[in-house]
Amino acid sequence: MIECDLHIHSIRSICGFHTLFEIVSVMREKGLKAFALTDHSPVHATPRAHFSVLVKRMPPVIDGVRVFKGIEASILNENGDLDLPVFEGFPYEIIIAGIHDYDKFLPGPDKDRNTRAVINAMKKYPEMKILPHPFYKSCPFDIDAITDVACETGTAIEINNAYILTKKADTDALQYLLELAIKKEAMLCVNSDGHVFSEMGIFDHALDYMKPYGLENFNIVNRTLESTLEFLGLER
Ligand SMILES: [Zn+2]
Ligand SMILES: [Zn+2]
Repeated sequence: MIECDLHIHSIRSICGFHTLFEIVSVMREKGLKAFALTDHSPVHATPRAHFSVLVKRMPPVIDGVRVFKGIEASILNENGDLDLPVFEGFPYEIIIAGIHDYDKFLPGPDKDRNTRAVINAMKKYPEMKILPHPFYKSCPFDIDAITDVACETGTAIEINNAYILTKKADTDALQYLLELAIKKEAMLCVNSDGHVFSEMGIFDHALDYMKPYGLENFNIVNRTLESTLEFLGLER
């Protein structure tokens, strides 16, 4: 029921196992119509700044699968500045931005600080389309405040399958987020955040948490290829 996986890491990220072609073939086999290649930004030491230039040269459709040019940027400070390589001919079709381990601005228990950082990022960067993993155990947020701002800025909030799978999720926060998302009609994006083939295009853990509320009650932007293209303002 999810046709596009908008959060995938390749071998270009420190956390990814696979090449672009391997990922395309995994996605094709699993019946996905599209995915976004969202490797980490330069603060993670990968991809190298030059990678943005390579991404620009990637064709939009590979072996029948639409591949969105993306990046998972890191939030660098409380002002919400993002670690985006800037150069002429900015190539990204999708920008995800969050707080990460191994960054300069680390996940931590200070909920107010974390909330300020992501709210400022969503407000400052209209091109930031998705807020990833907002229910990370090690990095709590004021879920009520971030869902309010996400509705205002048109940012989709991610229900990240890998965080549930790898037990990094605060499941109480996840459930509260799902309740608020229905109440506020917030946009959600269900992603695998796959690092390895077995995780890619897989959403079972996320959907298991969502099903009791009725999947039809959620505004899931990546439900179909059409809804995804509309959300990203892109052509096939
Ligand atoms: Zn992430
Ligand atoms: Zn990721």
